[in-house]
Amino acid sequence: MSDGALRGSRLGATSYETDHHVEFAPRQPVSYDCPNGHVTTMPFSLEAEVPLVWECRCGSEALLRDGDRPEPKAVKPARTHWDMLMERRTTDDLEVLLKERLDLLRSNEVITSAGRTSAPRRKKTA
Ligand SMILES: [Zn+2]
Repeated sequence: MSDGALRGSRLGATSYETDHHVEFAPRQPVSYDCPNGHVTTMPFSLEAEVPLVWECRCGSEALLRDGDRPEPKAVKPARTHWDMLMERRTTDDLEVLLKERLDLLRSNEVITSAGRTSAPRRKKTA
């Protein structure tokens, strides 16, 4: 029996066809570089339109290697906790808060984030 022989199978049965005899459309490996140093290589059909960006496994946008760069987006730097703090407070505010906290620390009073004085937890006795 030659390789090209027809293979029969019942309707609805699992296909026993393997990839070995399937002719794929001509493909090209396309590499994407993510800003975190990951490289993703995807096979694309030569006829397929290759996307300029690919979502990396880490969630970042990986750029097509050697490709036309997409319009450089105005990259918004991630807001840090510090940035958010500075949107609500001025340095003067913070100086005051810092002094308050330091005074409290020095007076040995521990304040929880809820603003209540923390009491040592009592263990339930069995
Ligand atoms: Zn990545």
